[in-house]
Amino acid sequence: MNHVFPRQNLAPPVKAVRGEGCYLFDESGKQYFDGSGGAAVSCLGHGDAEIIQAIQDQAASLAYAHTGFFTSDPAEELADLLIKHAPGTLDRVYFVSGGSEAVESALKLARQYFLEKGQPQRRHVIARRQSYHGNTLGALATGGNAWRRAQFEPILMDVSHIAPCYEYVDRAADETPFDYGQRVAQELEDEILRLGPDSVIAFVAEPVVGATMGAVPAVEGYFKRIREICNQYGVLLILDEVMCGMGRVGHLFACDADGIAPDILCIAKGLGAGYQPIGAMLCTDEIYQAISDGSGFFQHGHTYLGHPVACATSLAVVKAMLGRRLIPRVEAQGEKLSQALHDRFGQHPHIGDIRGRGLFRGMEFVADREAKIPFDPTRNTAGKFKKAAFDAGLICYPMRGTRDGNLGDHVLLAPPFIISDDQIGEVMDKLAVAVDQVF
Ligand code: PLP
Repeated sequence: MNHVFPRQNLAPPVKAVRGEGCYLFDESGKQYFDGSGGAAVSCLGHGDAEIIQAIQDQAASLAYAHTGFFTSDPAEELADLLIKHAPGTLDRVYFVSGGSEAVESALKLARQYFLEKGQPQRRHVIARRQSYHGNTLGALATGGNAWRRAQFEPILMDVSHIAPCYEYVDRAADETPFDYGQRVAQELEDEILRLGPDSVIAFVAEPVVGATMGAVPAVEGYFKRIREICNQYGVLLILDEVMCGMGRVGHLFACDADGIAPDILCIAKGLGAGYQPIGAMLCTDEIYQAISDGSGFFQHGHTYLGHPVACATSLAVVKAMLGRRLIPRVEAQGEKLSQALHDRFGQHPHIGDIRGRGLFRGMEFVADREAKIPFDPTRNTAGKFKKAAFDAGLICYPMRGTRDGNLGDHVLLAPPFIISDDQIGEVMDKLAVAVDQVF
């Protein structure tokens, strides 16, 4: 019997024993192409010698020192490197152990910022339907995925959810993409006015929506309008780049593609590339100073904040991304991946949309392509696709989506940045096996 609590007990999980490049191997020796890095984690691939060396070196010199007493070289160097490349006036970094912790920290920082500024009446958070921001209670409350929230609703904090920017489903036929983006962004201003302009702490959004929608970027102009509205009402903009950040969409920070900068930015997943659990929250100096000049104490913390081995690993990861010029490669390989998906599946009657940025691509499954009608959820399309792809030796990320009241299914692809042209072909062949089997 396995004593590890599995994620789901439908079937005993397969035991992974080794990773190399873009592949994982199970105990029987079967090889899997890691087409989603689990969930957009393994950006460098597996078994990277430089990263392994960095882990070993740091563990040998300093494995742990509590941040109540100490900082460390890897934490300071990593913070400097991130800030050097960060958008806007982001100036301070708070290291945590993953994505949910980063979002949870951001929510608490935003609330405390307004307390320090003498605005205790600010207590509302606004986010979007069809979003996922993590599984701890604050992050879960912020996310709009009804399925994940359902059983915890009575104990979740009160968060308003407005429409996401989901052009494929929501844009009217007579509307330009730009006008559509302005229309949905307007929901933010309407909600701020409804709640009372001086009662809102923050708006939270993913620049490219991952798990709940399958790599959906906003249309041009949407985030610029969101930024304007936040500025107008003094509401903090928190961007959750836990999945889409760290080079995944062809920019180190995903919001660079939208030409805006947030007040608080959350990153994780690709930050440690799967070699160590690490996340981070970046904030502006203004936010930091409000707390520093006020109570002088951020009322938040975890034992493993700024873990030296995790920071050293991440430092090596970010240096590798930049030094090996992997981010331009993400853009180039991402275009090829997109083209291959269109060539192979663009006309398929049950694939309604192919979308994404960089090496973050999604396909939406539909029962009726013309009318964009999703499959009946009881068909379990995403679940069947996951199994068929896994059997064919491909790890991808199929999900039941969260179209309002009308569930959809999609598959997310987020392969390592080192994916070759031949391997794009291999992914297409394996996807085709799953597509043929499920539809
Ligand atoms: N935010 C986003 C956008 C995510 O995709 C995820 C995880 O999938 C999280 C937050 C939570 O991150 P973690 O699972 O590391 O806690």
